[in-house]
Amino acid sequence: MRLQLASRNPHKLRELEALLRPYELTPLPADVDLPPETGSTFADNALGKARAAAIATGRRSIGDDSGIEAAALRGAPGVRSARFAGEGASDEQNLCKLLADVAAAGDRRVAYACALVYAEPGDGGVRTHLVEARCEGTLALQPRGTGGFGYDPAFVPIDTGDDRTMAELTPAEKDAISHRGRAARALLEWLAAESAAA
Ligand code: IMP
Repeated sequence: MRLQLASRNPHKLRELEALLRPYELTPLPADVDLPPETGSTFADNALGKARAAAIATGRRSIGDDSGIEAAALRGAPGVRSARFAGEGASDEQNLCKLLADVAAAGDRRVAYACALVYAEPGDGGVRTHLVEARCEGTLALQPRGTGGFGYDPAFVPIDTGDDRTMAELTPAEKDAISHRGRAARALLEWLAAESAAA
């Protein structure tokens, strides 16, 4: 059972490969263009990526859009998480800007959000299904840990009940509570129900 992944982010590929088992993920061919992330919601962007990959490859595809929302910044960076410090900014630069913009004494609540879209090409067009999930946490004052990617070194999830950042968790611990883990499990449940009904 194979699914086409509509992403070139190696971190997402690695996480989704583990999360979506028994499905195997096919990396996106180099000649497939994904639409720019111009949507105002994670769902819009994930839909655009999944549909584009399904149409270009003719395969059942998965689109992911995700990011971090800071309460002190009224939900920013949100859909702009990958380019918060500017177009082409590195993970370190984006994290550094978030730590600077969220004042030390202010509201440090943050949440990760993930939209996953399954897109299935067929005679009548592309059929899609959307799942969304969140992971609540607080922003650490200093980055800690070497695991994960992106904002993980400063994201302290509430679910663990301790003060470890996502980057200090094992991959399995992150998957059990992360926005992407929760969304992937919801998608697997839906896919199982679909194939049982077929
Ligand atoms: P996009 O979905 O390709 O627009 O990128 C989302 C951005 O949000 C990534 O570049 C990361 O900066 C951030 N992000 C999404 N998911 C995670 C995660 O699980 N950990 C840390 N950062 C994440």
